[in-house]
Amino acid sequence: MGLVAWGTELLRTCGALPPDDRAPRPETCVFCAKIGAHAERCARAPPRDLNPSARRGDPAFRAMDDELVVFEDWKPAARRHYLVCPRAHVLSARSLGAADAAMARRMLEAGRAALEADFPDERDRPAFRFGFHLPPFNSVDHLHMHAFALPFEPEWKERKYSVESWARFAFEPAEETVARVEKLAAEQGGAAAPGERREAAPAGRATKDDARKTTKASPDRDPDADPARRKGTSEAAEGAVVEGGGGEGGSGEGGVSGSSSSSRL
Ligand SMILES: [Zn+2]
Ligand SMILES: [Zn+2]
Repeated sequence: MGLVAWGTELLRTCGALPPDDRAPRPETCVFCAKIGAHAERCARAPPRDLNPSARRGDPAFRAMDDELVVFEDWKPAARRHYLVCPRAHVLSARSLGAADAAMARRMLEAGRAALEADFPDERDRPAFRFGFHLPPFNSVDHLHMHAFALPFEPEWKERKYSVESWARFAFEPAEETVARVEKLAAEQGGAAAPGERREAAPAGRATKDDARKTTKASPDRDPDADPARRKGTSEAAEGAVVEGGGGEGGSGEGGVSGSSSSSRL
């Protein structure tokens, strides 16, 4: 997977390919399909549903708004492991340009907010880590930021998400990604003033939709309903590329754990 993004971004950089329109591609992208299916299920759910968690979409979704979604990795590699994705089909962190500065920062804020909501007591909060796999070391060619509450479980998974300087070719800490893109924006004069960009509200904020949700993953969800699973794709491919480890966010349903309450970003 990652090789396609790597090659495509390279060709775009040198002008051999036109810029991407970033339209969702549910037919070919596992994350576009997952996000689209979730939106559809949410829209279909009746207002008063006896078993809302089963029918209001994938309960692994933790937070969302019209630009971003946060969902649990289907094979968590740490104490808590979320993926933050734009709804738009952006290939990878290498595709982020000056115009994406605000979105990149919001992704980081959304990941942090989701984790902070899980660990509300600051004195008892574990260390967090945020970052992006860079092509060809990504698995799904749809931009996703990993958000972790440490430690990694099992410990060896840390290697796949290492923030050591020697590993930057494969995994970029999100703080650096954001700084890189904001620098581009500043250089091009397109940087939004701090007050201009949209503020991300805490992920824990409830919405009227949430009031109808239960907080446990429902046992009667149909794993085959997940389009990613039907396609037989998963981010396991990423593990194969990097170190033969497990997958991450590809098919969602299998690895749901913890709270299912989702909220606006
Ligand atoms: Zn996509
Ligand atoms: Zn990744």
